[in-house]
Amino acid sequence: MNLFHTIAVARASLPRLTLAQRVVDKMVRNALVYSTETGESLVGFAVKGLQRAEPDLYVIETIAPDESAIRRGAYFEQGDDLQGDIFAWWYNNWELYRRWRKSARKPDGLDKALEDKLDVPLVHLGDWHKHPGTLIEPSWGDTDTARGHIADKSNHTPQLLAILATVWDRSEDAAFAATEPPDPNNEHPKPIRVPIDDRNVVRLDCWYISRSTRRFVRLSPTVVPDDMLPKLPTLGWHLVNLDRLRHEMALLSGEGFSVSVDEYDVDHVPPQEVCIFLARPTSAKVLIVVTQADYPDSRPTLRIAPMNAIQGLPEDADLYQSLWERSEPLPKEAEPTWPWNADHTILDLVRDVEARLKEGSAVR
Ligand SMILES: [Zn+2]
Repeated sequence: MNLFHTIAVARASLPRLTLAQRVVDKMVRNALVYSTETGESLVGFAVKGLQRAEPDLYVIETIAPDESAIRRGAYFEQGDDLQGDIFAWWYNNWELYRRWRKSARKPDGLDKALEDKLDVPLVHLGDWHKHPGTLIEPSWGDTDTARGHIADKSNHTPQLLAILATVWDRSEDAAFAATEPPDPNNEHPKPIRVPIDDRNVVRLDCWYISRSTRRFVRLSPTVVPDDMLPKLPTLGWHLVNLDRLRHEMALLSGEGFSVSVDEYDVDHVPPQEVCIFLARPTSAKVLIVVTQADYPDSRPTLRIAPMNAIQGLPEDADLYQSLWERSEPLPKEAEPTWPWNADHTILDLVRDVEARLKEGSAVR
């Protein structure tokens, strides 16, 4: 058997990897500041073609490591998994977008054929991380972790992408390149090399492992302009503006409210809204503050729901869903009339609304 032919066939069956330019830019930027073994998770699509053994991979976003777990406080049931919360936001909003796109026949800037091809759920594709010195290959630890991941039968994505970032001295990079075997027909996978300044080059090596390769193999990435791939919606303010979230929650708790934050698709247009449920221990009503992802730029709206909406519900029922379904807009006379700006807080709105609500219909 012709050995070269065998290798070529194996190559042809590997995933085609496409990276959005913004993802490359972010990896390069962060490789210069992150410490070794620190990285980000890679988010995008794995599209299985009919004739292909391995999926085509598209990386469109990264999620930074979770350094802020402690800052989150006790207001989220998920607790300390900010990375997971960010992925969930994007996943849910992408699903919403897919449904919305079909119903609204929304024309998009993207190529129609590509958009149809990428009409699949968002997945975690793997991660990128920084390696020390000139270690461009996965470490023993990387391989061990990856094998565990692909062997795990509960994993719906039985493959893993690992992009390794290394920062090189220019002369080192040139010396290394000179030792690589000649490749006149451009058949060998190439890393991405990004010159930074007179001294440094950041190198990104893309590796892939699946149940059929069973070991890390190199991929040749294609980098495309951002507008050639879908862009995920803005993250909700409660996932990025954690200081503001903590401040707002402290004010509301200080006022005697029990507070719960949840994500809802209120207006059937992505992205979802961030809803804050407020109740006093003795109140017969629950206030629902609906904020947009860009809060505090835009003014929240308020709704009101009867507390008895959650009476007699089965144990596994979603209390907030039930409250939401029974909620109504504020009566006209309770709507705040003053102009909103970002210096105001949710508590300012709530105090005003409570004062305007007539005795008996108020939440107090
Ligand atoms: Zn590693």
